[in-house]
Amino acid sequence: MDLTGKTAIVTGAGRGIGRAVCLHLSALGANVVINYAGNDAEAEKTRALFMNAVTVKADVSDESDCKRLFSVCEETFRAADILINNAGITKDNLIMRMSDADFDRVLDVNLKGAFNCIKLASRPMMKARSGRIVNIASVVALSGNVGQANYVSSKAGLIGLTKAAALELASRGITVNAVAPGFIETDMTAALTDEVRTGMLSCVPLGYFGKPEDIAETVAFLCSGGARYITGQVIGINGGMYV
Ligand code: NAP
Repeated sequence: MDLTGKTAIVTGAGRGIGRAVCLHLSALGANVVINYAGNDAEAEKTRALFMNAVTVKADVSDESDCKRLFSVCEETFRAADILINNAGITKDNLIMRMSDADFDRVLDVNLKGAFNCIKLASRPMMKARSGRIVNIASVVALSGNVGQANYVSSKAGLIGLTKAAALELASRGITVNAVAPGFIETDMTAALTDEVRTGMLSCVPLGYFGKPEDIAETVAFLCSGGARYITGQVIGINGGMYV
């Protein structure tokens, strides 16, 4: 796998899965644009891990922020050859207690954010007649989950967006795929109680939680030449949690 000369935008890359994806893409030779929402210190830690990178603080749910993100990418390196829609948040609650604001915010970041970025990435990719887009969905998009109506809806929507974009962009040599992680050890899951973690572990046939690197390996493959004939697919990375 060689991504020398390619440029990747990774959203939500200050920490967790996004950081691991940046590391993998950079190790394969890509220039990387590290997007994040507000945690400057963590984003700087990611940037300091490799040379060919720039950080951009931008809210993916905001179209004008996304335009700035793509402009910085083009000015610093070149138009993005690779887009990883990884930015994601949770605001869990039972439907009866979930506020409209919490429902809307999760949809805006997790789904509309990916739409905003695909829209901006696709024109130059179409011109170049090549490109790779990978959306980070979730196992719960397929299985459902109690207390996550907003998050599950956003990730199920992201899978739908993946398939629609794959069909729209295929004739231009652009592939669009999704990965659906199970339980991965990051700040997002560290917030869960021990009781919830123990319950979740009992649902993982392999018997352990995943690491961000487990997701990054597959994402990097989907960005490589070896994956040229894969598009519109959803790849589960979940230790057998959902088969
Ligand atoms: P994380 O550790 O909480 O990191 C989330 C990243 O997203 C941070 O860098 C954060 O920026 C950024 N972000 C949040 N809101 C944003 C916005 N509006 N615009 C731009 N960036 C934003 O999460 P993670 O566990 O690595 O998850 C990464 C992705 O994988 C998410 O889409 C998540 O839904 C998905 N996923 C995770 C798991 C899991 O078990 N961890 C399972 C399935 C799917 P700051 O650092 O600046 O706050």
